[in-house]
Amino acid sequence: MLDFDVIIVGGGIAGASLGAEIAATRRTLILEAEDQCGYHSTGRSAAFYLESYGGEEVSRLTAASGKFLDHPPRDFAEHSFLHRRGALHLSDREWPEVPPDVTAWRVDRDELERILPGLRSHWVRALFEPGCADIDVAGLHAAFLRQFKRRGGTIATNSRLVGAIWSGDRWRVRLADGSERGAALLVDAAGAWADNVAEACGVQPLGIEPKRRTMVQLRVGHTGLKDLPLVNDSGGQFYFKGEGDNSIWLSPHDEIASDPCDAAPEEIDIATTIDRFEGVVDWPVERVERSWAGLRTFAPDRLPVYGFDTRVPGFFWCAGQGGFGIQTSPAAARLAASLLLGEAPDSMIADIDPAVFSPARFDQNSGG
Ligand SMILES: Cc1cc2nc3c(=O)[nH]c(=O)nc-3n(C[C@H](O)[C@H](O)[C@H](O)COP(=O)(O)OP(=O)(O)OC[C@H]3O[C@@H](n4cnc5c(N)ncnc54)[C@H](O)[C@@H]3O)c2cc1C
Repeated sequence: MLDFDVIIVGGGIAGASLGAEIAATRRTLILEAEDQCGYHSTGRSAAFYLESYGGEEVSRLTAASGKFLDHPPRDFAEHSFLHRRGALHLSDREWPEVPPDVTAWRVDRDELERILPGLRSHWVRALFEPGCADIDVAGLHAAFLRQFKRRGGTIATNSRLVGAIWSGDRWRVRLADGSERGAALLVDAAGAWADNVAEACGVQPLGIEPKRRTMVQLRVGHTGLKDLPLVNDSGGQFYFKGEGDNSIWLSPHDEIASDPCDAAPEEIDIATTIDRFEGVVDWPVERVERSWAGLRTFAPDRLPVYGFDTRVPGFFWCAGQGGFGIQTSPAAARLAASLLLGEAPDSMIADIDPAVFSPARFDQNSGG
């Protein structure tokens, strides 16, 4: 049986980034069920970096990741992964709000019309968040995997974990082809399958649930859109951003309960997307160029889970990254690595309280 120090289940951004952090000092195997890492949520994101997103605790993880994403270490990548575009948070009532440490300023109706010609009249005010950027997700994921391999890590694709047994000091992991791998530590970075993987390892699930989100690339009768800011509404009904000169990426901000699966968009959700868009601007809709869907996976309190299971030894949670798993990945991986290896946190995560993300918060009588 091939033996490792750490086995990470899942080769998406969560598994790849954590793997890159620990591979230099631990013999690490990433198990990926699909024939390529990044096939599920990581390959389907809207690819933006938005500090105000996800509430204060997530915002702190995002901000802690910003410098790494914008100015990555030379041995990791030669260019920034961010391309700044800014975000407009629209409102038809009160001024929208963002977490206290996020830079944003108010924009009145006159200024709004300049930025978004054709904006429907009921959108009366907005906040502009200048720090919002596109993330080169494929480049970032590939860089994490590259660093993982360079530091000695092993990736096994087409390798689905179907069960694991804790034998007192090691995990004995069984794969779908019947073969086995061993490791002292097992990391659950299985995205939408996080609870299923836990159950297969005899660990009590945490109630982590996948929710489907739809994305549409829409061609419209309006030009000059490539660098359009990310536009969303404070009521959480839509967001869109420029893609090409006359095309946008658009989402109805949907969150439809789903089993873990190869998610696909449904006609009704695409129709809803377009309907909501037509309530924002008067740009004629020409055609749907493509559409896709992916699963955003949430713990019951919508915060990610990083830490050892409180009941079963050697089982580490790295799950529940919701709609922010890409933009938080550098700091989240560093945090998870320090907890997994029992090492002191470095300066990137000095301001992050690990207790906020601990699975212990779900224990009965934890008071959390
Ligand atoms: C439409 C959409 C838009 C989004 N937009 C953004 C955004 O703009 N910014 C942002 O930061 N985030 C965004 N997200 C969220 C982000 O994509 C996720 O948080 C992130 O990709 C989660 O990464 P992951 O590695 O946990 O999951 P995944 O990428 O799904 O990886 C988990 C992997 O585990 C593997 N696996 C599962 N079970 C097993 C098993 N038994 N054995 C072996 N392998 C297994 C799966 O095959 C999968 O590859 C968006 C998500 C969606 C769906």
